[in-house]
Amino acid sequence: MALSRPAIAELLALLQAPVTAFDCGTLCAPGNGGVPVCCNSAQVLPVLYKAELALLQKRSKLWRKHVPTGADAHLRDQARGCDVFAVCKGHQHCEREHRSLACRTFPFEPYLDHDGVFVGIVFAFDQAHLCPLITSEHAISPQFVQQCCAMWRRMFELDADERAFYAGCSRTLRRQFGRRGESIPVFTEHGVRALPTARRRGPRSQTDGTRARACTKL
Ligand code: SF4
Ligand code: SF4
Repeated sequence: MALSRPAIAELLALLQAPVTAFDCGTLCAPGNGGVPVCCNSAQVLPVLYKAELALLQKRSKLWRKHVPTGADAHLRDQARGCDVFAVCKGHQHCEREHRSLACRTFPFEPYLDHDGVFVGIVFAFDQAHLCPLITSEHAISPQFVQQCCAMWRRMFELDADERAFYAGCSRTLRRQFGRRGESIPVFTEHGVRALPTARRRGPRSQTDGTRARACTKL
C-alpha cells in the first residue's frame, strides 16, 4: 500500500539527528567545488516517495519534481511506481526541516536478515565512490542510528512493499559480501554487528561502538 502524507509526516519527524557530530560536508565539499556531494543533484539525484514530494511541496517551495532527461534519462527506467525524482534549491538554500527522507538517511539504507527481519542500517555501498564517509573511520552518531532504526521499523509496519523491496536489496548485499568472504557491518542501536552472509551459524556478532567501514533506492 502506498505511503500516505500523514505516514510520511510521521516518518520525517523521527529523523532529526545529523549523521556525524561534525559537518561531514567538510570531507567532500572542498574537492567538489564547495558543494557537498549528496546535495548536488547532478551527482546524487534525490528519490522521494510521491506522497513525500506532495507533502514537502505543501510545506515549502524547496522541492520541485525532476524528470530525468539526457545523461540521467536511464534513471527513469529504474524508478518504482511509488517514487519520484526531485531536486531542491541547493545546499545554500537548504531548509533542514524540509529535507527529504533520503536527505536525512544518506548514506545509509536498512538491512533485513534472511528472514526479512529488520536488523539495522548499512552504508549505501554503491555510493562509496561519491561519499567519503562510507570508507572513512569517522564515528557515526548513535542518535542518528537510533532514529534511522526507529524510522525504518515504523516504515516497514506501514508498508509491506517497502519491506519486500529492501529485503531484496539486503539479499543482493549478502551476495556481494559473500563473494568476498566478508561479513556485513550493520549499525544497530546496540553498536555495529558484523553479520555473516550465510544463513548457517557464522562468526559471532561483534560490537565496537559506532564505527565501521563502509543500495539507494535505485
Ligand atoms: S554524507 Fe557523504 S556525500 Fe554527504 S556531505 Fe557527508 S561525506 Fe559528503
Ligand atoms: S534538501 Fe538540503 S540536505 Fe537535501 S539535498 Fe537539498 S541541500 Fe542537501
